[in-house]
Amino acid sequence: PTLFDALAPQPADTLLSLIALHRDDPRPHKLDLGVGVYRDDSGATPVMRAVKAAEARLLETQSSKSYLGPEGDIRYAELLQPIVFGRAVPADTFVGVQTPGGTGALRLAAELINAARKNAKGPGAKVWLGTPTWPNHAPIMTAAGLTVATYRYYDQATQTVLFDEMMAALQGAAAGDVVLLHGCCHNPVGADLDRSQWRAVAEVVAQRGLIPLIDLAYQGLGDGLEEDAAGARLVLDAAPDALLAYSCDKNFGLYRERVGALYAKGGTPARTELMRSNILLLARVNWSMPPDHGAALVRVILDDAALTADWRAELDGMRSRINRVRQALAAGDPWLAPLGHHRGMFSLLPLSPDQVATLRREHAVYMVGSGRANLAGLTLDTVPQFIDAVRAVR
Ligand code: PLP
Repeated sequence: PTLFDALAPQPADTLLSLIALHRDDPRPHKLDLGVGVYRDDSGATPVMRAVKAAEARLLETQSSKSYLGPEGDIRYAELLQPIVFGRAVPADTFVGVQTPGGTGALRLAAELINAARKNAKGPGAKVWLGTPTWPNHAPIMTAAGLTVATYRYYDQATQTVLFDEMMAALQGAAAGDVVLLHGCCHNPVGADLDRSQWRAVAEVVAQRGLIPLIDLAYQGLGDGLEEDAAGARLVLDAAPDALLAYSCDKNFGLYRERVGALYAKGGTPARTELMRSNILLLARVNWSMPPDHGAALVRVILDDAALTADWRAELDGMRSRINRVRQALAAGDPWLAPLGHHRGMFSLLPLSPDQVATLRREHAVYMVGSGRANLAGLTLDTVPQFIDAVRAVR
C-alpha cells in the first residue's frame, strides 16, 4: 500500500449525476430545477449583455497579463463598495480583496478567523450556522480548522423561519463566536429575515460581541440591489468587527469565471491593519492571486455608466422573471403559497427524497434530493405542469 491508500473514499457529487440524468432523459417536457444557475425563458444561462461588451473592450484595451498581487484587482473591490455597502467605506477600517468566487471569500474568511482563534487565549470562534444551509458552508469552515455549531433556521414541513430558535441560539453564543448569515435569497430555503428580524439580529450581535460573517451571493436577485443588502448593512453597522463574503457569480452571470470579494471590517485602524496583512498572507498561500478575467469585466462594467445601467437593467429583468414565476406558483396552489414570499432562485419544498425521486421518474421534474427547487428552471408556461406534478406526488 502507498500513502494514498489511506484516503477515505468520498461520495460522488450528487448534483453532477443529476445533470447527467437530466441530459440523458429523452422526454421533451422534462424540467430542470436542479443546478443553481439562473435560466431565462428559453432555459438558457446567457452571458449578460454588459459582460459581452466588457469582454470586447478588454480584448481591445488590455495591454498586459502580468501578475497582480494577492489582493487581486483593487479597483474592482473599490467599485463594488457602493453596491454592497451603499457608500464608499473608510479605508482605515475596511479591507476589501478580490477572491476566487464567493467560495474563496468564505474560505479566506474562515482561515482569517482560525488564524486569530489559534493565537487568542481562551475558547472562541465557534461558527454558528442556521440549518439547513448551503451544503458547502460547514465543510469550508471545518476545512479551515473551525468548529461549527448549528441552530434550526427553517422548518421544511411547515415552511416557516424559526426565528425564536435562531435568537435563542445567538443569545446563548459566546463573545467572539462567529454567526454566518445569508444576506439575501437564502440557499436553499428561499426565506429571508424581514427588516425587524434583521434589526433584532444586529442588536444581539452587538450585545453579545458576536462576529457576523455575511454571505452575500445573490444581491439583486431578490427585491433589488439596495433592498437585498439592507439587512446585511444593519448588522455590519452594529458590529465593530465583521466579515462579508461576496459573489458576483450570480448577479453578473459569471459563474465559471470565479468572481468574489472578501470585505473585512475592523473596529480600529490597528486591528484593520492586522486583518489586512493576514488576509494577504492567507490569499498568497492559498491561490497566490485570484484569476483576473471575471473581476476585470466587473471593473470595466462598474467603471462605465452606460454599461452599469445596462447590467442593472438586465439584472432587474432576471429578478422580475423569477418573481413572476414565484407569484404564478403561489397563486396556482395554496400549498405553494409560501413561495410567493420567498426570494431568489431557490425554495425548499416539503417533499421527501422519495417524492423527489418520483417527480423525476414519473414526471420528468428534476430537483435535488433535499427538496430544493431552482424556480428559475420554470417559465410561466411550465408552471401549470410543475403544479400538476407536485400535486400528483403529494
Ligand atoms: N454562498 C451561497 C449561499 C451560495 O449558494 C454559493 C453558490 O452556490 C456561494 C456562496 C458561492 O458562490 P461562488 O460560485 O461565487 O463561489
